[in-house]
Parts: sequence; structure tokens; C-alpha cells
Amino acid sequence: MDKFKNYQVWFFTGSQKLYGEEVLKQVKENSKKIVKGLNENSEIPVEIKFKSVLTSSDKIKQSFQEANSNESCIGVITWMHTFSPAKMWINGLKILDKPLAHLHTQYNKEIPWADIDMNFMNTNQSAHGGREYGHIVSRLKLKRKIIVGYWQDTEVIEELKIWIRAAAAWHDSQSAKFARFGDNMNYVAVTEGDKVEAEIKFGYSVNGYGIEELVKYVKEVNPKDIDKEYRHLKDIYKIKQKLNEKTVHAIKDAVQIELGMRTFLEDGDFKGFTTNFETLHGLKQLPGLAVQRLMKDGYGFGAEGDWKTAALVRAMKVMSKGLEGGTSFMEHYTYHFEEGNMQVLGAHMLEVCESIAANTPSLEVHPLNIGNKSDPARLVFDSKAGSAINASIVDMGERFRMIVNNVKALKPDKSLPKLPVARVIWKPKPDLKTAVKAWIYGGGAHHTGFSLAVDERYMRDFAEIAGIEYLQIDENTDFAEFKKDLKLNEVYYKIND
Ligand code: MN
Repeated sequence: MDKFKNYQVWFFTGSQKLYGEEVLKQVKENSKKIVKGLNENSEIPVEIKFKSVLTSSDKIKQSFQEANSNESCIGVITWMHTFSPAKMWINGLKILDKPLAHLHTQYNKEIPWADIDMNFMNTNQSAHGGREYGHIVSRLKLKRKIIVGYWQDTEVIEELKIWIRAAAAWHDSQSAKFARFGDNMNYVAVTEGDKVEAEIKFGYSVNGYGIEELVKYVKEVNPKDIDKEYRHLKDIYKIKQKLNEKTVHAIKDAVQIELGMRTFLEDGDFKGFTTNFETLHGLKQLPGLAVQRLMKDGYGFGAEGDWKTAALVRAMKVMSKGLEGGTSFMEHYTYHFEEGNMQVLGAHMLEVCESIAANTPSLEVHPLNIGNKSDPARLVFDSKAGSAINASIVDMGERFRMIVNNVKALKPDKSLPKLPVARVIWKPKPDLKTAVKAWIYGGGAHHTGFSLAVDERYMRDFAEIAGIEYLQIDENTDFAEFKKDLKLNEVYYKIND
């Protein structure tokens, strides 16, 4: 599995001086063995670095100061091997601003029934050491992930992996830059929001660029590079349409937009962007192929100025790095209301990422019927089938809310020969009517981040780290309970935010 290069999670073990040097030596050795074991597990996507056994307030504060200022450190794992009086942890925890995981494990899996003595009892006290430590984290009202179980158990590794991937996405979001070509689609509500508050909450900034700034880059693309990329695309995609002078021209125009956009984004060190079909002055066509090609390479994207979804898609792409599946910008488009077989067709005008494609996409040129521009090039495909999620972040005025719906992506029952866009057919959980009602009551957007690679556990961890409201719609959702949760959340956030 691809490791996140240059990322580390720091591992600290809690103890105290009371037990004497011999026990502390053992505590350190066991910690190193656990860290070594975790690093040898291919599921763990970053290097876990054992830092030290902490036995004093000063050392704890100093260690967390270092974690805060270290660029590679994306999060901190703490483990109480023994009892570690938790007043020692207060001043360190108060300043820690990296994601925190409390690994509640112990070095031995089983009680050594025949050999257990008081020396063993003194050395292996996670069961009460972890409670003392956990109490102070709760009293300080800090966000954290608690993982309970033996450190080699598959479930523990899985939970740790997910938390690390969420922490990686969080790290990536800090100081990330998103470019907005043009503004919001006129009069649209859900794609708008408070960009200042988003920067305070998520760490990323969103800034606008006049379309002419992009057009300048597009005009400067070398014609030789366009020809080269055009030949490359003909090699890697299916060409089902008969190419004529007009369609070749359209594909080359799309390639020119892609290359110009790519240079713009690289020059400005952007991690994602938005477009708006209403503001394309100077571009010959809506960037469809360009957006698809850039999303495949990891850029976050939102259409119609939707910067929140662009940042969300980017975060989901970071979390899913190296995992099977795929992640794309998505839109709830149209319904199939057949009784007993209700489905949603998800697509966009053009901009769906090929990482979710079931087969090699087909490169095609068709009219768009919107925006008064030339016919744009795009990749057309059906998505893979499988368990997936749709995720949305909306601005509720005084807070951000994430809503996630578990869905089942399907192989379409029938072919869609006249629909010239990439698409996904899915069945929402628990059923279409309940899911859609809950989603709409929750204020969820029509745009989403769609993923076959990450599930709701990743999104929960990410929302927890970010400290935003989280609503889950899945097989366990009861609509009346969901509505009650919405009301309770209103009260909770009035008091706590
Ligand atoms: Mn849209």
C-alpha cells in the first residue's frame, strides 16, 4: 500500500516514576515493540514514530509543543502502559493542536494465569491507567479517538488505519488553497457559505480568480503539448465516436483548457478548484474533460462555485490514497421511482472522476444544451458497483454540518445509450424514501463527494477532528429518531458553539 510520504504519527507512552527504573525500561521496550509491530503492518499508511515514555508534566508539555510545531507530525497516539497520574497531562493536552488518539491496549493479549504476580500487575495497568488519563481528556472536553483492544487485532488496526487517514486529510486541509474560477452560480443557496469561517474551522482558504486569469494560461499552452496530450488520450481511452474535423477540434480545445488549468493550479500550489458554467468568457467550452483529468490526479472539485464540496472531495481523496475504489464529485440528478426498486441516477453536466469507472471511459464530444458554448469533450462511463457513500458539508449559518448517506452503487439494469455523461446508479440506505427525506430535512446539498473507497467511519473521524456536526443516514436510520437528533443538535450547538 502507498504510504503517505513524509507523514508521521507520534507515539507517546504514559507512565510515572513511582515504579522505578526497571519497570520504566520494560515500559519503553514494550512500547517500541508495539510501534515496530504497527509499522510492519501494511494497513498502517504512515510511519508511526515512538517518541518517549512520559512521566512528568514538563516533559508532556514540551513533547506536545514539539508535535504542534513539527511539519511531518499529523497526529499523536497516547497509550498508558501503567498508571500515569493525569494532572501531569493537563498542561500538555491544553496546548495540543494535532489530532489525538488514545490507544487503550496492553502489551499482553491474555492474562498469564499461571504466572501472574504483583510485579506483572504493577507493570501492566492499562485498564486503570487508561481510565485516569481518559478522565482528564473528557474533563478538558478534548476531541479524540479512543481505540480499545489488543494492538495486533485486525479491528484495532482497522480503526487506527481509518483514524490515521482522517488525520492525514486534516493535515492536508491546513493551509490548503482552493481556486474559484468565477463566483457562485447566481441565486444558488447551498453552494454558498462563509469562507472566512471555513478557514477558521478547516484551515483551508478559498480565493476567487477572474476567468481571464485562467484564459491567459490556456492561451499560453504550447500547440505541441496539445498534440502530444491528444495522442495520449486517444491511446488510453475508448474512441467510439467517429472523429471528424469538428470533434477533433473540440477534444483539442478541451486538452488546451486542461493543460492551462493544470499549470495555473501548479503555479499557485492549489489542491482543488471550482468552475461555473455561467462565467466562461474566453473559454471555448465548459471544462469537462479538464476537470475529470485533474480530479483523477487528486484535485478536489466542485461545480457552480461549490468550494465546500471541492474541499470535501479533496479530503476524501487524501483519505482514500492507495485504497481500492474511487472518489468523485457527484450530484443527485434524477430518480427511478419503481416500487420495490427505487434508485437514484447520479451524474453531473460532465464532471465525474474516472477513478470510479467500471471500465475504460469513452472520450466523446456532444452538445451541452446549457451555457451557450461549443460542444465540450468528456469521458463517459458507468461506475463500479459496490458499497459507497455520498457525503455533503453544508453551512447552516452558525455551523458546518456533514451529512453522510450509505448507498449501494449498482451495475445499471439497462444501458443508457443516449446519455452522454459519466454516471452512477445507487440505492440509498435504509431505503430511498427514508434516506431522501432525512437528507432533505438535514439540509444536505444536491452536490456530494461520492466514494467507493472510504466509508462513513472515515467521515465520522474527519468530522470529529474538525469538530463539526455529523449526521449519518444508513441501514439503522429511523426517520423519527433522525428528526429528534436534528432538534437535539440545535440545542447542543446553541450551548456549545
Ligand atoms: Mn451542479
